Amino acid sequence: MRAALSLVGAIFIAWAAAFGAAPPHRTLLLEVRDIPAHEQAGQGRFVYDGYDLDRILNLVRNTAHVLATPVELEELRHAGFKPTVLLESDDLMTLIRRGNFGPSLKLDPVYHTYEQMVQRAEVLAREHPQLFLRMQIGETTQFHRPIYAYRLSSHAAQAQDRPGVLFDGGHHSAELMGPEIVLTLMERLLAGYGTVPEVTGWLDTLEIYLVPVVNVDGHGIVTSGADPRWQKNARDLNGDGVTGLYGEGVNINRNYDFNWTMGGSGEPGQHGYRGEYPFSEAENRAMRTLALRKRFLLSISYHSSGEVIFYPWRWNGKPAPDDALIKGIATAVAGKIRTMDGKSTYAIAPGGAASQSYAWFYGRLGVFDMIVETGNGSYVFPPEDVPGIIEANLPGAYELLRQAAGPGLVVRVTDAASGKPLVAEVWLPDIEDETVDRRTSDAEFGRYWRRLGPGKHTVIIACEGYHTVRREVEVDATGWTRLEICLEPEE
Ligand SMILES: [Zn+2]
Repeated sequence: MRAALSLVGAIFIAWAAAFGAAPPHRTLLLEVRDIPAHEQAGQGRFVYDGYDLDRILNLVRNTAHVLATPVELEELRHAGFKPTVLLESDDLMTLIRRGNFGPSLKLDPVYHTYEQMVQRAEVLAREHPQLFLRMQIGETTQFHRPIYAYRLSSHAAQAQDRPGVLFDGGHHSAELMGPEIVLTLMERLLAGYGTVPEVTGWLDTLEIYLVPVVNVDGHGIVTSGADPRWQKNARDLNGDGVTGLYGEGVNINRNYDFNWTMGGSGEPGQHGYRGEYPFSEAENRAMRTLALRKRFLLSISYHSSGEVIFYPWRWNGKPAPDDALIKGIATAVAGKIRTMDGKSTYAIAPGGAASQSYAWFYGRLGVFDMIVETGNGSYVFPPEDVPGIIEANLPGAYELLRQAAGPGLVVRVTDAASGKPLVAEVWLPDIEDETVDRRTSDAEFGRYWRRLGPGKHTVIIACEGYHTVRREVEVDATGWTRLEICLEPEE
């Protein structure tokens, strides 16, 4: 058969190899209600998989929106289901808009466009000038749109020598809950300052950074309705001037450079395409710029879906050097977030140690970063579920802020002669093995904040051109244990 392969067949096989097997031509959008639990798991007919949206677009609260051929419709009826045909169309994107956005075929206004988010933040900046600073951290790969981080603190205009906590959303553009949660968090923190004692305390003692949308171009492809499933950035890989079509774009949560080659896919057509090289994408460079400037203590990156928190990591079966601490923090955060069915709270699981944001943040910089997979069964949730998912997630964000109170070690490294801050390695050899990079103090203050369990720890502080210092410290059970290190220059 191989020898008789026609040209068309060969092209088809090449296409199928690049994009996966060709889905059947589905012209129907069905709604199927009351899907029993056993049909949603294992060998069931309705197993939602966010990586495969050729058939099941979403499955929220036991109701699925399903693309089908007339034959598949009949099969479901024979199996005892009562599917409703919502729409018949030869245009796949119209079916997907109906399945994800509802009868209007447009994104519900409960969601914000990026422009609306930026405008809302401008209003908040005028209302709270002391608490709130917009910082451009980069621009997008394809359309060069600004990517903003927002700094919240009692003195936001100046960098503060305080622990930093980061919340970001929208690495994957279809996962719209992340940007909405981060935007609401912004509103609540600003409104709570001076009125809610705990919020006031956070803004007085921390620097909180919010990046509502990392993948701004991709977010626009989703919110405009061009493709409600779009997850990658808008990079025009083949340079034909057309963007946002399947097969193009880079998955920016696979473009960070910690074990980059081990994550995602090297095939441009694949969902997990990691890009040409680490940090090839401007969105990732923007996040790197921010993270190198403010060495964050803790962070959350919001995604959808699954109602689970992924934390760093399980690498060849081995836990991260800080596993007990990170797992404890992830457990505390997850325990505060109610699932959509109201019956339980989010689960936790260690993620792999490759190319995603949390692996880079933790492996390279020592940030205890985690992915929160918000909601269950969709990327774009029905409008009536959006406020509930946001409200359910805010207590998790607040718990992360509580975790920034310690216990832990804070080191300040300065030049003994000049008193100037130093970027120095701060190494805990009893904990940090060869799987993670050496952590360093920041350039601005010579400061390094690190969550740490109470008890005795060895710390080695090293900086090129200075004598290395080794200290034994006893970390207190609560709060921050301070260590001031003045490094003596070598001869
Ligand atoms: Zn995601």
